[in-house]
Amino acid sequence: MKIYYDKDANLDVIKGKKIAIIGYGSQGHAHANNLKESGFEVIVAEYPQGGENWSKAENAGHTVMMTADAVQAADIIMTLLPDEMQADIYREQIAPNIKPGSYLGFAHGFNIHYNQIVAAENINVFMVAPKGPGHTVRNEYLQGGGVPCLIAVEKDPSGDTKDVAMAYACGVGGGRSGIIETSFQEETETDLFGEQAVLCGGTTALVQAGFEVLVEAGYAPEMAYFECLHELKLIVDLLYEGGIANMRYSISNTAEFGDFTRGPRIITEETKDEMRQILSEIQNGEFAREWILETKANKPVLNALRRIGAEHPIEEVGDRLRGMMSWIGKNKLVDKSKN
Ligand code: NDP
Ligand code: MG
Repeated sequence: MKIYYDKDANLDVIKGKKIAIIGYGSQGHAHANNLKESGFEVIVAEYPQGGENWSKAENAGHTVMMTADAVQAADIIMTLLPDEMQADIYREQIAPNIKPGSYLGFAHGFNIHYNQIVAAENINVFMVAPKGPGHTVRNEYLQGGGVPCLIAVEKDPSGDTKDVAMAYACGVGGGRSGIIETSFQEETETDLFGEQAVLCGGTTALVQAGFEVLVEAGYAPEMAYFECLHELKLIVDLLYEGGIANMRYSISNTAEFGDFTRGPRIITEETKDEMRQILSEIQNGEFAREWILETKANKPVLNALRRIGAEHPIEEVGDRLRGMMSWIGKNKLVDKSKN
């Protein structure tokens, strides 16, 4: 697999082109600020006019406009709206205002891959998908690093869309850690699978189950919290730094023996079969249909699950314990007054 770095990109392809960042949220604030500091010309679109995120963007020194105006003013339009809102906003505000030959960008392939947005043939369509949360994309850039990015090209009437995607990816910091070329299909399917089976769904279910088993057995919720949630970060830091072997080098021999012999009893062949089922629902569009219909119905299931999740005892214990650990509050990635 070919991995590109800053040295492989030609930033001149973006010089003189105006980039509109549509949506100043998690990814939007990171792209807008990183690109601007990389020397590109950036405008931001937000809604409502003068709203909270509009002000955050203005306070960071950006020119902020309504989406229709920003699309008219720009050559590169980066769609950083929530996935479930993109199709409506595209139809109502982007498509009627986009100039032929513009470059339309995405940070996730969902709407293009599942045909919720079909751009005109004279529009270039590309993806720059940082493989990390927006606040990390910003923070790593500020530290002089960057989050690796995936790039893909769906439509290329101008013939240089890959160069534009590469330059954009470098502007957000991806060229410092690696840019990998993929397709909208591969990015969409692997991204959804990763967040459902391992990163978000798998991890939260594992943490909650471990917490519940300890508490049900009569152990203090505080102990269960430290053991099953707090320590996870310490283990993940070791995994991130040097892989599974690095983590196993650092833990005790006792922990390592338990890891080898008990781990496969938790993630069994049955669990893997369920992962395969989840993957096939992503591949055959069932998950996409469920999520699109859920959003059309005003998200009744998502809202209920958010409420039930927030009422789980692990949240109350966690709030209390984190309140005692003052250093966790310092240098937070998320500062809701700014980003
Ligand atoms: P967020 O929900 O954090 O941000 C979306 C922003 O769009 C919000 O600021 C929102 O304002 C604003 N917005 C809503 N409606 C409009 C409108 N009509 N016009 C202009 N702006 C509007 O989204 P994310 O950053 O999480 O996601 C953006 C894209 O990036 C998605 O495609 C996602 O899949 C992708 N992505 C996200 C990652 C992440 O870390 N979150 C990681 C990798 C990819 P308000 O809050 O006021 O509604
Ligand atoms: Mg993801």
